[in-house]
Amino acid sequence: MYINVTATVTKQKNKQKPNITKDALFSAIGLTDTGYYDDGDPSYVCGYCQAYMWFGERISKRLVGVNPIFTMCCHKGKVNLPILKAPPKTLLSLLYNKNETRSHFRELIRAYNMMFSFTSLGGQVNHAINNGSGPYVFQLCGENYHLIGGILPAPDKNPAFLQLYIHDPVNEIANRVAAYGKTGPTSQIRLDILETDFPTAAIIIICGCMAFEKRDIVIESTTGKLQRISELHPAYLPLQYPLIFPYGEDGFRLGIDIGFVDTAGRKRKTVTMREFFAFRIQERYGESPIILMSGRLFQQFLVDAYTMIESNRLRYIFLNQKNLRAEYYDKIAASADRGEDDLSEQGKRIFIPSSFTGGKRYMMQHYLDAMATCKYYGYPDFFITITCNPKWPEITRYLQKHDLKTEDRPDICCRVFKMKLDNLVEYLTKDKVLGRVNSAMYTIEFQKRGLPHAHMIMLELRSKGMIQMILSTMRYRSSLVAGMC
Ligand SMILES: [Zn+2]
Repeated sequence: MYINVTATVTKQKNKQKPNITKDALFSAIGLTDTGYYDDGDPSYVCGYCQAYMWFGERISKRLVGVNPIFTMCCHKGKVNLPILKAPPKTLLSLLYNKNETRSHFRELIRAYNMMFSFTSLGGQVNHAINNGSGPYVFQLCGENYHLIGGILPAPDKNPAFLQLYIHDPVNEIANRVAAYGKTGPTSQIRLDILETDFPTAAIIIICGCMAFEKRDIVIESTTGKLQRISELHPAYLPLQYPLIFPYGEDGFRLGIDIGFVDTAGRKRKTVTMREFFAFRIQERYGESPIILMSGRLFQQFLVDAYTMIESNRLRYIFLNQKNLRAEYYDKIAASADRGEDDLSEQGKRIFIPSSFTGGKRYMMQHYLDAMATCKYYGYPDFFITITCNPKWPEITRYLQKHDLKTEDRPDICCRVFKMKLDNLVEYLTKDKVLGRVNSAMYTIEFQKRGLPHAHMIMLELRSKGMIQMILSTMRYRSSLVAGMC
């Protein structure tokens, strides 16, 4: 039995006088005539980094003061990076001017980025998912990495990527079109775009400063082999995304200092990779929103960023097996007790702890926690599903303002969904709208097209009469028939 909740209502204490009109009351607490709670627009600005945020994204939600504090963008000033400059006029007009060229450019922005990029994407991109029946999805399979080749092509090969900047610069545009383009009705538009004033030169520094990292950028003049770039190299992102970082701005590097003088004696005094990306993907007062306006390329950038963070975490686990006390893990310890010498055949060589989000032990730990809760409190009373609706007014208003599609800003869908979910959880647990809740837990999942949904269970409601009344009035739906969970 599933109850599909598609809209949430949050707690708003009515402090108005009793004679207030219905319209004024609704607008005061954000409720529309239909009972929908509107979270408004991202009209609040972070006091530290000037990022535009929704009011519902503040920390300390019980406080409703006029100066909300946000941590999602810069963690209260911890991350303080140089802001991105406005892109060259040509790129700006391709992203903003409403005309045929812009539509063409936006549709093929990944291909155009590839024409100018110095490196190639090593992961397997699944093109089959975009079969025309839904919004565009960038799906990457396997391990992701960026590859760079020699600066000159092998004698029998055509130039590609980095080599296009070096090899035969007189015929550079023709080479680019030949390498990536196909002839068709849009060939002329493609030529027009390529003939514009994009940067055509770059200096790649062969950096040996990170001796601990074996994989680094190594450029050779002519080689048949591709070199793998470390995601810790500052040029990792600008080499792959010249249309997002047209001035070659640095990506993440180790040792970025926090944005204030530490007085709390914190252990880590540098910015993490996750914090770096969280800062970069915010719309900010005075900063160029070029990353956020790049549509399909933004999707690719997000996936790339996620894989960078994940592989960085996995490398930490790989290098810190001793600190994680991996030798005490059950299977290995049991095998050793049995006197088996060759432990390489027992389990996996690298042990991923339960602190790794999404890992096997992480999932098992949460499953066992949930089962323990059920054992203590009894069977769950409610199973509630909330799904993200890309037509929520907050999302459509934001996208209309920036002339974007839903698939261009998956981050906005997720942020609005999280606000709605928080509202729902608060409404059900703290406001006790269904009676007293002893325990509640939820899990957020992503459907194959990228929209999130959450499943929630609530246990041991005190007022069973209330449950019966609600169940008799609410429509039951087998809502998950249509959803993919
Ligand atoms: Zn901030």
